[in-house]
Amino acid sequence: MRNLFLLSLFLLCNCESKQATLPVEFITPTKILDEVTFLASDEMQGRYFRSNEARIAAKHIAQTWKNAGLVLLPNQNSMYLPIDDLRAAPNVAAMLQGTGNEFVLITAHYDHLKPRRSGTDKIYNGADDNASGTAALLVIAEALSKLQTTPEASIVLVAFTGEEAGFAGSKHFANTAPIPMHRIRALINLDMISRGEQNTIFLEGAPDAPRISLAISNANEKIGLRIIKNKHPDWIHRSDQAPFLEQGVPSVFLSVEDHEDYHRVTDHTEKILPGLAAKTAQLSFLAAIDLAGGVP
Ligand SMILES: [Zn+2]
Repeated sequence: MRNLFLLSLFLLCNCESKQATLPVEFITPTKILDEVTFLASDEMQGRYFRSNEARIAAKHIAQTWKNAGLVLLPNQNSMYLPIDDLRAAPNVAAMLQGTGNEFVLITAHYDHLKPRRSGTDKIYNGADDNASGTAALLVIAEALSKLQTTPEASIVLVAFTGEEAGFAGSKHFANTAPIPMHRIRALINLDMISRGEQNTIFLEGAPDAPRISLAISNANEKIGLRIIKNKHPDWIHRSDQAPFLEQGVPSVFLSVEDHEDYHRVTDHTEKILPGLAAKTAQLSFLAAIDLAGGVP
């Protein structure tokens, strides 16, 4: 009897140690740093939305999502969703198909600024703004691909073009509605998620999006970030969630405090906190699964 007890204890422990990696654990600081290193490299010239380098970034995003098994939005024949500006690189969008006809969006802009004409360093690398949020979307795709069950709502990733040119990409998406705006349960926008205090992130828009706010709070029980809510209500108008809020889509914004390298050529990769960006990506992933009625 005692032996049987020991045997079952052994089996239990053995089973425990072989437990599979959770999908959320595929989002790591190292992967975030790798993506930011590429996107914010000098070769990418700052990813100005009307540049060839922005198109290279768009291609990298689409390829990564395709490799993760994400699919096209309904009635689209490409992950590239061009905007009216013919010189602009496109929005990029793909999704994990849900069982129902509603959507949960995680979004980030991938464009930044064109090089300046003078100075030793001419390139606005935009590591925090917003290679960090873009990296989150790239790594979240892999975590989505590891889910064991299909959520009710489709989880859509959108990388916007032209944010720095007055929300050109997000305005176009919200106005042309490749998915019906009233079917969007929630939108979580990530713009600058890798600077400031280690482990601290700001959340705006929560009072008007209680369901998203709750999902983020619940997710954070597993992540342990210090989330500062509603400190900068004006921020809700300063990134890509704004055009969606105008259409009545419940939306929130995750971002860090402004810093000395904001919109300067010194927004460099070596200054980012990959751990903070990874935790914010994990938080967004878990909250999106919850909002989509899925199992993390
Ligand atoms: Zn930005």
